[in-house]
Amino acid sequence: MTALANQHKAINLSQGFPDFDGPDWLKDAARQAVIDGPNQYAPSHGLPVLRQAIADTTRRLYGLDYDVDTEITVYSGGTEAIFSTLTGLLDPGDEVILLEPFYDSYPACVAMAGAVARYVPLRWPNFEFDQIELAAAFNARTKVLVLNTPNNPSGKVFSRSEMEVIAELVRRHDVYVMTDEVYEHITFDGAQHVPFATLPGMRERTITVSSTAKTFSMTGWKIGYTLGPPALSKAARSAHQFVTFCTSTPLQVAMAEAIRRLEEYKPVLDAEYRERRDVLLNVLQEVGFEVRPPRGTYFVLADFRRFGFEDDVAFCKYLTTEVGVAAIPPSAFYFHKEEGRHLVRFAFCKNVATLRAAGERLQTLRARAAAAG
Ligand code: PMP
Repeated sequence: MTALANQHKAINLSQGFPDFDGPDWLKDAARQAVIDGPNQYAPSHGLPVLRQAIADTTRRLYGLDYDVDTEITVYSGGTEAIFSTLTGLLDPGDEVILLEPFYDSYPACVAMAGAVARYVPLRWPNFEFDQIELAAAFNARTKVLVLNTPNNPSGKVFSRSEMEVIAELVRRHDVYVMTDEVYEHITFDGAQHVPFATLPGMRERTITVSSTAKTFSMTGWKIGYTLGPPALSKAARSAHQFVTFCTSTPLQVAMAEAIRRLEEYKPVLDAEYRERRDVLLNVLQEVGFEVRPPRGTYFVLADFRRFGFEDDVAFCKYLTTEVGVAAIPPSAFYFHKEEGRHLVRFAFCKNVATLRAAGERLQTLRARAAAAG
């Protein structure tokens, strides 16, 4: 979509990274860290100063205690954390439960581990799972369930009661959970992010993946991490050692400062994302998309059938080439493609001016809705 967007000079709301940078004080911290060093390899599982900052902030925010040496691991982004965790935990033939729509790295990592994915849909418009369908996905070979909350691409934030259903099933079937919480700090309308590991009995069977990429708008720094009990962390570390070994040393120093200052910085993040979300959401509703306001992440899924289209790829091509706004066809996030065929994903991690300019272009869709009746 980005190639097509460039060709047609479309405003790109497809890719999920900000068109702005994180705070200047964080850039200053990185500059200073490069000057002062260390600039050589970090310890494989992360610099102590960063792991300590993660441990302290996790305890302050969620009341969860993780051991700095054996339970916290730094990776080259959430992406590598996901790969190393799944590779470390899975053996060929194991089964993994994925809720769809999913972040597209999960099925790829499951395949690379030689394991088999079972898909359970979260259905439009509320992205709830059917408890019977979920229960039926478990069997004797199930080793891991992957949860992503707040959820890319749906914007769903799982409720505590939904997580309790999942917790009961993973307990009954003795399954591990990899929970991807990289959007934990981007929520709206008072939605409460509940870390899955805070549910009774879940800390011991859960690896939590998080990342500094979205929280601090520095996706290119690639600093992610996991929290998890020693045996699970050790399995993931054994993959990590031979994937990247470690991640950028001075940027870890700078991110340690960012994580320490999270609560001071968070109100700015909240206010800016609320405005960005509302600008895009209002336009989408105004021109005739059917949307469910996202409760978390910086994505929104919208139903485009009002404009007379049935297929997401065809609609996204039209949107890019004729309207001048690029978005993602979300069937890429589904195994059962038909579940997402009537939807389009917009990213609102963009400057308000970019979103307003996209909004102006989207106005041309009104005529299309009128023509389609
Ligand atoms: N998980 C989800 C759900 C994501 O959307 C992303 C980034 N698009 C990642 C993980 C990867 O995070 P990172 O950029 O830290 O590799």
